[in-house]
Amino acid sequence: MFEALSERFSDALTSLRRKGRISESDIDEITNEIQNALLDADVSLKIAASFSQKVNEIARAQLPDLQRKTNQADEVYKIINKELIEILGGDARRIRLAKNPPTVIMLAGLQGSGKTTFAGKLAKYLKDQGNTPLLVAADLQRPNAVTQLTTLAESINVPVFAPEPGNGTGNPVTVAKAAIDHAKNKLFNLVIVDTAGRLGVDAELMNEARQIKDAVKPDEVLFVVDAMIGQDAVTTAKAFEDGVGVDGVVLTKLDGDAKGGAALSIVETIKKPIIFASTGEKLSDIDYFYPDRMASRILGLGDIATLAEQAKQAIDEKTAKKLEEKFISGESFTLEDFLEQIQAMQKMGSMTKILGMLPGANSAAMKKQMAALDDNELVKTRAIVQSMTPGERVDPKILNGSRRIRIANGSGRTVTEVNNLVDRFTAAQKMMKQMRSGGTMPKSLASNPMVPNQMMPNSFGGSAPARPKPVKKSKSGNPAKRALEEGR
Ligand code: GDP
Repeated sequence: MFEALSERFSDALTSLRRKGRISESDIDEITNEIQNALLDADVSLKIAASFSQKVNEIARAQLPDLQRKTNQADEVYKIINKELIEILGGDARRIRLAKNPPTVIMLAGLQGSGKTTFAGKLAKYLKDQGNTPLLVAADLQRPNAVTQLTTLAESINVPVFAPEPGNGTGNPVTVAKAAIDHAKNKLFNLVIVDTAGRLGVDAELMNEARQIKDAVKPDEVLFVVDAMIGQDAVTTAKAFEDGVGVDGVVLTKLDGDAKGGAALSIVETIKKPIIFASTGEKLSDIDYFYPDRMASRILGLGDIATLAEQAKQAIDEKTAKKLEEKFISGESFTLEDFLEQIQAMQKMGSMTKILGMLPGANSAAMKKQMAALDDNELVKTRAIVQSMTPGERVDPKILNGSRRIRIANGSGRTVTEVNNLVDRFTAAQKMMKQMRSGGTMPKSLASNPMVPNQMMPNSFGGSAPARPKPVKKSKSGNPAKRALEEGR
């Protein structure tokens, strides 16, 4: 997310830190670099210039105070962080629920912006929070939009109101109006209306959206926009704000190579908050938009708050407590526990996505590590552990040659891969014991404790610990057995 921009900000911070004492010309230099980075990220000239000018003025005004501090570069960054949060909208804004249900949420935007997908995501998100949403298929223009919404709704078990087949027929205003009556009768507390988009802004589109808005009087009109279209997103947002009137923005496709221009210009341009961020094609790839977390990411400081929330969702409290108690009491961390951790990590999404939230995720070193990541490794590792018996998972020391061959065959992996996993696991177990008894953390983990490189196969960037003495040589004809014996 916004990688190039974040890299520029991180690099600027690094060079500012090298200066030690900061002068007026250093402030000019960094604000100039910020302006250029924002322009390259597709932020409009007006906004980029006024942002950097504001940071410049504040930093210059604080310079005498700042020069008395030890970490002067960090103080400048605090100013930039505060201004970034401001330009991204300040405090996070949640969906406002109506006093008298149902709360009506209308989605508007161009075709292809991700409206229908977002309708499904929003319904699932709000349902998971205990609401009873109804999805309304009022995009009667785009071929298959009604079918797409119906399928999405079925997959998340949310009722859909779709009396018209769409594909260019039917009246969306009538459908939307009837949907509200239906929701009231059936006691749904939320209605999400998916409306039609066009490939570009036109009078007919605005007119239809306006009529639906007048008919259903939504509590929230959300303008859905593809963050990858950069400055066009801002122009379109302005057209929808002027033509229909919107309450908030949904930025979609933030998982793609959006440069950041849309996020950084939209709030300032239409004076409406970004409420949701959509970060993938899966229905769970949705979250409220938090300006402070986004600012932190842009500054290369990661998004630990989101990471912690996701970890909390992925690993239930009981399991977390059990692992913590094990660690404290000195009880052995077993392959069974390891399996639970892999499963939790898989629930959190791809490794790249997880690591992308860590501080320094866009630094060259971290990028190199991430490029070497292969999400399939988790799947392979899981298969190996699952092919072990409960006894073997608790005590891998009993894993002799024949057991390892059985596990390799059972998991569809090679004996070498089984060996590597057991080696790394044993090393990690030893390291945990050391840490518990007050020893220091090995350098490889201390630099990035989140990367389980001690446990993962080679592609995770971990170097294999010294192998135990190889099993004595035999002239085994079995290639798997030979690999085991030779330690390959
Ligand atoms: P609509 O015409 O506005 O209803 O757009 P759709 O919901 O059909 O989405 C258009 C395309 O964008 C589809 O292929 C979606 O799978 C994809 N899409 C939607 N949201 C996201 C997102 O957040 N990330 C990514 N990568 N793709 C998305």
